[in-house]
Amino acid sequence: MSEKRYEIYECGAFDKLSRVMLKEKLNSSGMEISVNHLPAGQAIPFVHAHKQNEEVYLFLSGKGLFWIDGEQLEVGEGSAIRVAPAGGRAIKADEGTGLSYICIQAKAQSLQQSTREDGVILETQASW
Ligand code: ZN
Repeated sequence: MSEKRYEIYECGAFDKLSRVMLKEKLNSSGMEISVNHLPAGQAIPFVHAHKQNEEVYLFLSGKGLFWIDGEQLEVGEGSAIRVAPAGGRAIKADEGTGLSYICIQAKAQSLQQSTREDGVILETQASW
């Protein structure tokens, strides 16, 4: 039997959770991922930045505001925002709708290659 080379975790329905941090749950070594839901009208109660890590926010559903360095952006399903480590950021859900999003955090400038250079096509066939 070969070694297990994956982890799986069921987050549940996005609108039923508040925040799930996946690094430990998935044994991730290169990134932190959180799955988040802000109920209607609620906001992250602080502005934050990072020392080394950039973040990508992927908005899955709902509508809200993304505050970044004094600029206020409207976000909703399909919005993707990348923030440099030093960017001061905050998020608020609209009064009428919750806001679900995924945040992926990794050390800025750490990616040595991307899919095209790093991916390898294997001879193995999937079961279907
Ligand atoms: Zn952060």
